[in-house]
Amino acid sequence: MKRLIFLGPPGAGKGTQALILSDLYQIPHISTGDILRAAVKAETPLGIKARSYMDQGELVPDDLILDLIKERLRQSDTRGGWILDGFPRNVSQAAFLAELLQELHLAADCVLNLEVPDEVLVERLLSRKRKDDNETTIRRRLEVYHQDTVPVISFYSDCGILKAVNGNDSLEGVTTALKAIIDQA
Ligand code: AMP
Repeated sequence: MKRLIFLGPPGAGKGTQALILSDLYQIPHISTGDILRAAVKAETPLGIKARSYMDQGELVPDDLILDLIKERLRQSDTRGGWILDGFPRNVSQAAFLAELLQELHLAADCVLNLEVPDEVLVERLLSRKRKDDNETTIRRRLEVYHQDTVPVISFYSDCGILKAVNGNDSLEGVTTALKAIIDQA
């Protein structure tokens, strides 16, 4: 049973690592980015509202995200744990999650912060070829990360479950480092 929160800039490898760990620990990988991309593709009301924010590298407004997470964390497949990837993205989402977990009588075991220098991120994102990965949106996503998401790191550093992991290593090296931390948590 593991409840894990993944933090880190766009391009840090959160999604890739979260998928590997989801398989290893047999817990669902909950990626708000994946949920939003599926909604955009299916042209649901959520997708239609979220699309322009995503295309510009901005965060989608909280009111579109919070209910979605609340619903997702109440589904029965989350009983054995979960990996949150891409949520919380700002301090108000982190505060909402703290309240939600309290309501559900749950606590996160570990907050993993994947650290990668900005220059490496831009290079990685440019080679990824996702629709929102052109140079302008990449730069904007990094700005938004520094402005809105970096404060989430301090939000968690006070509660003692925050662990930094060097994400500027081989895929296998990062997985090994993450596993070592999670197994101790
Ligand atoms: P990601 O796949 O996590 O990089 O997310 C892709 C895009 O989806 C982001 O650039 C945001 O526009 C949006 N997004 C994903 N998660 C969130 C979130 N928790 N809050 C607001 N916007 C989000």
